This record gives sequence, structure tokens and C-alpha cells, in this order.
Amino acid sequence: MPNEEFLPFSRPTISQEAIDEVVACIRSGWITTGPRVKQFEEDLKSYCSAPHALALSSATAGLHLVLATLKLQPGDEVITTPMTFAATLNTIVLTGGKPVLVDVEPGTYNMDISRIEQAITKHTRAIMPVHFAGLPVDLDPLYDIAKRHNLRVIEDAAHAIGTRYKDRRIGSFGDIQVFSFHPNKNMTTGEGGCVVTRDGDMASDVALLRFHGMDREAWNRFGKKGNQHYEIIAPGFKYNMMDMQAALGLHQLKQLDGFIKRRTELALRYQKFLAGWPQLSLPRTPAYSHLHAWHLYTPLIKAETAGMDRDAFMQGMKERNIGTGLHYRAVHLYPYYREHFGFKRGDFPNAEAVSDGIVSLPLFPLMTDADQDRVVAAMADLFKRS
Ligand SMILES: *Cc1c(COP(=O)(O)O)cnc(C)c1O
Repeated sequence: MPNEEFLPFSRPTISQEAIDEVVACIRSGWITTGPRVKQFEEDLKSYCSAPHALALSSATAGLHLVLATLKLQPGDEVITTPMTFAATLNTIVLTGGKPVLVDVEPGTYNMDISRIEQAITKHTRAIMPVHFAGLPVDLDPLYDIAKRHNLRVIEDAAHAIGTRYKDRRIGSFGDIQVFSFHPNKNMTTGEGGCVVTRDGDMASDVALLRFHGMDREAWNRFGKKGNQHYEIIAPGFKYNMMDMQAALGLHQLKQLDGFIKRRTELALRYQKFLAGWPQLSLPRTPAYSHLHAWHLYTPLIKAETAGMDRDAFMQGMKERNIGTGLHYRAVHLYPYYREHFGFKRGDFPNAEAVSDGIVSLPLFPLMTDADQDRVVAAMADLFKRS
């Protein structure tokens, strides 16, 4: 069917209300950080049942700020996973830390919790789990380990707004969560992200560092009146979210649970239609109770039985007018990480097998069952021809 429109692997769902809100924001004359960001933060706190939510320009900014508040010393280590987006490791390095990796579980692609304890040294400061594709990491044992060793936990929850672990929403418990609102994520503000925490000191440090290290309260503390002045009490960053972005977020957050419901229907349809295909290994879900946010649907291409590798599969799908994504190649295999930290192929065999085979099939709330049937038919056609 050569005349069919190209089906992208992801596309945001933006309501007319959200568009109207952006326009109203622009017309209001106040487009940068202001009342809409404030309201969006209130809504995020209420959605996550958390005392602190700080809206930011991206999740990368959130990871950077949280790690910056830890004031890592040379040699300090942060434990994370190689199956993530580069920002997870980049921000550790940017704040002076050394990324220490543990391998993933083969079926869920999440960090293997049973390997964390042996990676802890006297230099370890924090653990950064990633809830891959919106599937929660097994957090109870992870927080037990962190408590025993007095470590911070920074959850890279870029995929996991709306995810639940044992009936609790990610963000409603634990130490620190960082969410992303990039257009491909489960809800979007264009670009954007936020930090959620129950730690008031962490929240004020992030609030200070996200906007130049500027503190209006400090001026009052030093005995002067009025708030037309500010003090700079730390060299900060410029990581604030704009009201134009929050205008989208206010409406996206209201639709989020509905988005996840549709993503779940589609993911389960893929699981059903693709079950038993010898060319694929399908994502698995763990036994503990959870709500998967299905940010991505990511089978592995088994090159030997498929007669093609993942890259050839992606090319074949593109020729059939279907977009796919690659999330992610294992970060330890990128040149910077090989050269600076001595990582090499063979270090994390499970992550490497995932990295070599993984592909993101189209999945977004506006996708129809007929769109999905097209994807499955194109895959059947591609595998038959090889
Ligand atoms: C998208 C993503 C990020 C970065 O999010 P941005 O909002 O684009 O900065 C970080 N970690 C993971 C796992 C991601 O998928």
C-alpha cells in the first residue's frame, strides 16, 4: 500500500484547550516564568501527592541540578544503568561524579537490583535508577539498600509520570524523582521537566540553582525592606520553565491518565499480536504489582532468526512508511564513555544484547487500531521477504 501516509513512532496529543491556553498566555503579556508555572507546580504536587515540585526547562536540567546540590568530590561515584538516555550519565560526569554501572535484567531492561550492593564502595554517593519505558524499578529493595548504605536515590523518572509501583504513584514516595516533558514522553510542555521531592532542603537548593542562584528572601534577611532587590548566594543555572510551556502542561496533566490508558491498550495489543514470533523477543513485566506507563513499546529483533539486524529492520519499516525509534544504545559503548571510563563491550552483556536488538514500535495515544494493524502487517511482510 504505497500511498499510505507515513506513520511516525510518536506524536504528541495537544488539545484545543491547551492551544488556547498557550495563545492566552502569549496575549497576557507574561510569557516566561509566572502564574502558569506556579499553577502547574501546584497541579504536579497534587498529582504526585508530593510536597515539592519544581518545574524546569528539561529533565536533563533536573538531573543536573539535583546532582549539583550533592557537591560531589573527585572520586565520588553514582550507580546507574547503561540502558538509558545519555543525559543520565552525562549529568553525573558534568557534576564531577564517576558513573558506576550495573547490568540490566534481560526481560524488563531495568537495572538489576541484585547487582547494586556489590557495586557500592566507600565513594558511592547515590543510586540513579531509570524506570525504563515507564515500568517501575523494584523500589522497595532498592530503597532498603540505599538506607543501609546512607545513599541518595535520584529516580530518573523521565518515562514514568503516571507510573505506579505497588499502587503508589512514582513521585509520591522515596527521595527524588525527575520527570521529562519532552514531546515524545507521555505528556509534554514542548521541552520541559520537573523535580519532585519530599526533602525541603533539596527543593530549596534546586529552586535556588535553577535561576542564577538568586534569592529575594536573602535581601530581607540582611535587614533591608522590600523585594525589588535580590542577592546571589550561589552561582546558579538558567533552567526555569516558561509560562508558555506550563500552559501546555496544565492541560496535558489533566489528560495524562487517559493517555496512559490508550498506550496500555495498544501495548497489550502488540503483546498479543506479536506473541510467539520467532524473530522477536517481547518486553516482559515483573511479578510485583505496578501500573506500566508504556512510554515505549520495545521488542528486541533476534537477528539470527529474523535474518536481519535491528538497523535493517528499521530501514525495512521505513521503506514501508512506518517510523520506528531507537531507545537506546547502551551508553557505556559510546566513545566518550569507553575512552574516559574504560568501559568496553562485554562489560554488561544483558544491556548489550538489549542495545543490539531493541527497537521502539509506533505507540502514541492518537494511534488507531488500524494504524497498529498496519505496523504488524508491515512486520509480517518484512520478515517473510528476508
Ligand atoms: C528523555 C530522557 C531524559 C532527558 O529528558 P529531557 O527532558 O529531554 O532533558 C533523561 N533520561 C531519560 C531516561 C530520558 O528518556
